[in-house]
Amino acid sequence: MPSSIHRVLACVAVVLCACAVAGPGISGQAPPTGGSMRWYKGNTHTHTLNSDGDSTPDDVVRWYREHGYQFLVLTDHNFLTSVDGLNALHGADERFLVVRGEEVTSRAGDKPIHVNGLDVQRRVDPATGSSVREVLQGAVDGIRGASGVPHINHPNFGWAISGQELQEVRNNRLFEIFNGHPQVNNEGGGGVPGLEEVWDRILGSGTLLYGIAVDDAHHFKQPGNPLASGPGRGWVVVRAARLEARALLEALESGNFYASTGVVLDDVAATSAALTVRVKTEGTSKYRIRFIGRGGQVLHEATDPVATYTFTGDEGYVRAKVLESNGRTAWVQPVRVARKTALATAGLWTAVAAMGIFVVARRQRRA
Ligand SMILES: [Zn+2]
Ligand SMILES: [Zn+2]
Repeated sequence: MPSSIHRVLACVAVVLCACAVAGPGISGQAPPTGGSMRWYKGNTHTHTLNSDGDSTPDDVVRWYREHGYQFLVLTDHNFLTSVDGLNALHGADERFLVVRGEEVTSRAGDKPIHVNGLDVQRRVDPATGSSVREVLQGAVDGIRGASGVPHINHPNFGWAISGQELQEVRNNRLFEIFNGHPQVNNEGGGGVPGLEEVWDRILGSGTLLYGIAVDDAHHFKQPGNPLASGPGRGWVVVRAARLEARALLEALESGNFYASTGVVLDDVAATSAALTVRVKTEGTSKYRIRFIGRGGQVLHEATDPVATYTFTGDEGYVRAKVLESNGRTAWVQPVRVARKTALATAGLWTAVAAMGIFVVARRQRRA
């Protein structure tokens, strides 16, 4: 019957449009903005004297407050540092916020398994288990059980977490693509891949992970010492409706942010058709914007500070990386791109309906 066919096709068209870039993603896929979304710079991995940092929580918060950050998560090892007094002292509406957190610090044999819990409602005990997979999942589950948001820390620290183990973790969306501690092996080596290579393998397998940059700061009393784990090395810039813990965390888990070691972006916009990156140029620096797809393949490289990559539909995912001429970097989060199909061909009504049902079924299974 023509009317029912039209209803099916209308449904299929809506589903296919929604699939072009899956998930909430960056700009355009975010919750309705009403023009009120703002960027907030923050660090989600910091230590104080309450674990192995060298400074009081007050001194640590003061450093970030005085260096242009809008939020800071205090993540002492297996300790929940209170933030109420710190916010009374340093917090200010829409200007600065301290978020409570914990670095849930466990071991699997001789492997250090560290997972940050952001805005956990209570302290989470270290996870136990007989394998890296078990301990890692236990930590993530413990953090979710305490209503926190997990992020997996420095996978190559102690060469602890392989790409395969990282890929298999459930209920986790964030991992550290960059950690500023000088002994965490971000770049890999000796046959172990660097974290960007791991990220592309995982994304290529269909698992969506977002990459964050953090300080993992411990030392605030040794400025300029590259062997100390000082502050100001890696951060995230999050696009959220307001400076409030849950709004920031929702944006992080939606990929509505970029990670940076010094590059500032004016804007990131993803539509169903393209990904656009706009760099805020500084001084005499020059920039390359790389659009990267499956297997780490460079799909396009631009030398202007504003660049757009138009999806072909075959990429699987597209992310962007901005390289600054003095070595600073920004990582733009991946967006999923649906496979190109022959669905637009007007004559293939049966194929369209069949594929539509397939897509609907797949999406229902994922929900
Ligand atoms: Zn750690
Ligand atoms: Zn740490």
